[in-house]
Amino acid sequence: MSATTPTYGRQQVYGYLKRYFGFDDFRLGQADVIRSVLGGREAIAVLPTGGGKSLCYQLPAILMPGTSLVISPLIALMRDQVMALRQRGIPAASIDSTQDYAEREAVEQAFVEGKLKLLYVSPERLATQRFLDMLNLVEVPFVAVDEAHCVLRWGHEFREAYLGIRPFLEHLKPRHVGAFTATATPQLRSELAETLGLEDPDVYVRGFFRPNLNLEQEKMDSEDARHKKLLELVANREGDAPALIYAATRQATEDAAAMLCRAGLNASYYHGGCDPEYRTQAQDEFVNDELDALVATNAFGMGIDKPDLRLLVHLSLPRSFEDYYQEVGRAGRDGLDSQVATLWRGADYRTQSFLIDQQPDSRYREAAMRRLNRMYDALRSTHCMWKRILEYFGDPDVAELDRGCNACASCVSPTREIRVLDGVELEQCKALLTCVQQLDGRFGRTRIVKILKGSKAKGVPDWPDSYGALAKVRVAQLESFAQELLDGGYLEVAGSEYPTLGIAARGRAALEGAEEIALAMPT
Ligand code: ADP
Repeated sequence: MSATTPTYGRQQVYGYLKRYFGFDDFRLGQADVIRSVLGGREAIAVLPTGGGKSLCYQLPAILMPGTSLVISPLIALMRDQVMALRQRGIPAASIDSTQDYAEREAVEQAFVEGKLKLLYVSPERLATQRFLDMLNLVEVPFVAVDEAHCVLRWGHEFREAYLGIRPFLEHLKPRHVGAFTATATPQLRSELAETLGLEDPDVYVRGFFRPNLNLEQEKMDSEDARHKKLLELVANREGDAPALIYAATRQATEDAAAMLCRAGLNASYYHGGCDPEYRTQAQDEFVNDELDALVATNAFGMGIDKPDLRLLVHLSLPRSFEDYYQEVGRAGRDGLDSQVATLWRGADYRTQSFLIDQQPDSRYREAAMRRLNRMYDALRSTHCMWKRILEYFGDPDVAELDRGCNACASCVSPTREIRVLDGVELEQCKALLTCVQQLDGRFGRTRIVKILKGSKAKGVPDWPDSYGALAKVRVAQLESFAQELLDGGYLEVAGSEYPTLGIAARGRAALEGAEEIALAMPT
């Protein structure tokens, strides 16, 4: 803490929380983040959507002297927040490209006169001389970077202008800096800090577990089966709110909505290609509970704050945990029990990888493939889904889920139990581990299985020692062993763009006899 950093008492902080926001207490993580920010530490806050990030910078901004800046990528988001702040009696404004000259000038005037507590700006604004000149006239103690993951070049929502934030901060040298995002994996967080120029930030990741969202996933063998299951879920859903269904393509949204209508339900669809009038109508009907279901692409959802969605379905394989979590988070905002189902097919994986393959940049392709594979692995796995999510985002509360989350299909109705292998099963798993060890990192699951089977197919090498070692075991059995060894931490995914299997420390220990092999086997 620098000598000039003012201190803020607990009573004052809680007093402002009550007075300006009407809350008696902080949500998980908020108090920590605010303490760091007020104490002059650089902070990175990773809180899920709806977790209350905005309070983490709004409250410090109100407490501090001068005008704080919030860098935000979306005009709609800025406007919503400015309106909400003004309603609470906090002088706030935004400078954005939709304003006419008079509006802009009024905001700039208020800013340079020091009349604002918060000013929201787009990242593009930071590079303009006009804005930099104004900053010479105003005390800016604190800069908050909202949606900070936009700075990640190979991330899922990269925004070029975010790269200008680092030089901007180096120029301005504000006493307090905070970066806020709903998604940044542990690996990405260091990249995020570096790209923003934060040297030793306090990092907080909290609140990803939503125990009222019951997650389930099912592999569907055909599109018909998927539609049938969807119909069943929508028809039997709880509550009055429509089901929200996500599909991967425009065509898929229309097909599913048509199927539901044929079955006598009231369903509509929503995608980027619908004409605006139809879209507004669908959205209104959705909000007013006039539909049984709305089938949408991921174009739908931003700014939809319907608290009582009881059923959310993915009719596809989500492209990443980031997408999955964001969409899942739209269910059960009121905290009541809600159902979230992912009905996926193997074909979805091929479609998504094909689409990724069309991208021109190889580093982007690689990162996107890695995100897709993590999601795909989790859906195929029989392990706790919530644990997977918390692990992915690096939420420390994952430790509390060790004895089950009670909110995902694997924990609520386990079809498998952990069993220590012996006899033939143990020998087969060891043969599989040996094969992977010999070929460390070179081949994916499918080819490993083919080698063990002694397949004569093209591209299957016959030189490894393990070639044909398990010729008599069924392919499905070997694939299931491979998955379970992966889930159990005996194997790991080594490649990224073309995922290959490698042996993990635990697998090596098992081969040396230093550790038993315990796998989740069908009950
Ligand atoms: P995010 O930006 O993380 O998506 P928001 O800042 O929009 O989330 O907050 C989501 C909701 O949570 C808002 O309705 C907000 O009023 C509410 N909220 C935030 N902090 C608290 C708190 N400490 N107690 C109760 N509600 C809160």
